[in-house]
Amino acid sequence: MASSIVLFGPPGAGKGTQAGNIVRLTGKPQISTGDMLRAALSAGTSLGLEAKGYMESGQLVPDSIIIGLIEERLTQPDASDGVLFDGFPRTIAQAEALSEIADVSVVIAIEVPDSRIVDRICGRYTCASCDAVYHDTFNPTTTQGTCDECGHTEMKRRADDNEETVRTRLSAYHSQTAPLADWYRQRDLFVAVDGDQDINTVSASISEVL
Ligand code: ADP
Ligand code: AMP
Repeated sequence: MASSIVLFGPPGAGKGTQAGNIVRLTGKPQISTGDMLRAALSAGTSLGLEAKGYMESGQLVPDSIIIGLIEERLTQPDASDGVLFDGFPRTIAQAEALSEIADVSVVIAIEVPDSRIVDRICGRYTCASCDAVYHDTFNPTTTQGTCDECGHTEMKRRADDNEETVRTRLSAYHSQTAPLADWYRQRDLFVAVDGDQDINTVSASISEVL
């Protein structure tokens, strides 16, 4: 089995922001369960409808749905040389299921204190065309309203990027996802980088790990 990379961390840690660089460095495709669920939601599929309530309230979507989604995605030809998981696994049950179907070579944890997360998430916006990630203060587009990556002029904000939902997402992270750190440490796969630095410094730390 070809080896895959897991990008781990709380919501707003910078996983999506760093994923592009890792994809460029490794050639592995990014698999973001959050992006897949949002695509299912906007396409109005039954899976999207099932996930909707959990996502809007900031709770985790049930493991069975997520594991099914990943199993199907890993059958695509571009996944045959390993992938970059972003936002998955988020529970021990998901990690156990993953260990049966893929070989994880490293878990890169982007560590950011809770005190930074609300500001990061409430200022997030993305390009409506290519999904490049920006921030009102920390990483704005060079020309207001125009994507630096693709030149598109429509930006969007996520429905769940509000202070109330962020607090529920952080609490789900601490109770259900953070225990995975020890699970992966016990398997010698866990490497932490300081995510409370500017974006380029975090990229450099991740490049060193890779
Ligand atoms: P995640 O994918 O982990 O939820 P994102 O990559 O979407 O997080 O980042 C959340 C927000 O924080 C975005 O608005 C992004 O521009 C901003 N951001 C990402 N990395 C940093 C950083 N190192 N410093 C400041 N802001 C950051
Ligand atoms: P994200 O885009 O990673 O911030 O995820 C947005 C939302 O999608 C989360 O708050 C969850 O409701 C759901 N979600 C994404 N990935 C997972 C996962 N691996 N397990 C459970 N729920 C998930």
